[in-house]
Amino acid sequence: MKALRLDKYLADLGCGTRSQVKGFIRQGRVAVNGAVEKGADRKVMPGTDVVALDGLPLAYEEFEYYMLNKPAGYVSATEDPKDPTVVGLITGSGRRDLFPVGRLDKDTEGLLLITNDGELAHRLLSPKHHVPKTYLARIDGPVTQEHARLFQEGVDIGEERPTLPACLRILQSEEQGALVELTICEGKFHQVKRMFEAVGRTVVYLKRLSMGSLQLDHELKPGEYRNLTEEERNELL
Ligand code: URA
Repeated sequence: MKALRLDKYLADLGCGTRSQVKGFIRQGRVAVNGAVEKGADRKVMPGTDVVALDGLPLAYEEFEYYMLNKPAGYVSATEDPKDPTVVGLITGSGRRDLFPVGRLDKDTEGLLLITNDGELAHRLLSPKHHVPKTYLARIDGPVTQEHARLFQEGVDIGEERPTLPACLRILQSEEQGALVELTICEGKFHQVKRMFEAVGRTVVYLKRLSMGSLQLDHELKPGEYRNLTEEERNELL
């Protein structure tokens, strides 16, 4: 990691805006390695220099990674004029640069990675990488092996090309409805819903279970989140 300015170090950690933290520095509330520092442009080395605000040491991590179990009713955005956002659920972080990696529909639940690591997000979302995503879906009618075959071949959802081969696992199917798992390797808008529409079915409930190597932690209730473990981070990166 590179050395960074003291005001950026504090602002990145959510201690305040850049101008607020400059104020704290001027007021003598910030110390570096035990000595009060009044220069906002002082370079500090994360992990080596100890920066404290009002006597409290603040450890700097360049990137944060959270696994959220997204609840229905929240939009996959950082800000929204009308609906609550997934980033707003990450209350334990002061960072202002967090964003969701990809989008789940407002009514979709399940795994959403929230981070400030743009490079990782790019890799996970890039159409070149075909990162598999598995969804649990409840469907309004029976689902058969014929549907599985169609999804394996690719279906027309009104895009330039049919969908890439997708793997459908039928967990339960009756006349009045079915429960399935669908793994897709692309991320078109409303893709799962549109794929079922293309074969004459409607998705009535949708939850993402995994994305690449990352699996939703079933201990997390909708709306709860936790940091990724070191192992989860290493596997993803
Ligand atoms: N496919 C959908 O239709 N909706 C989602 O939220 C995710 C995938």
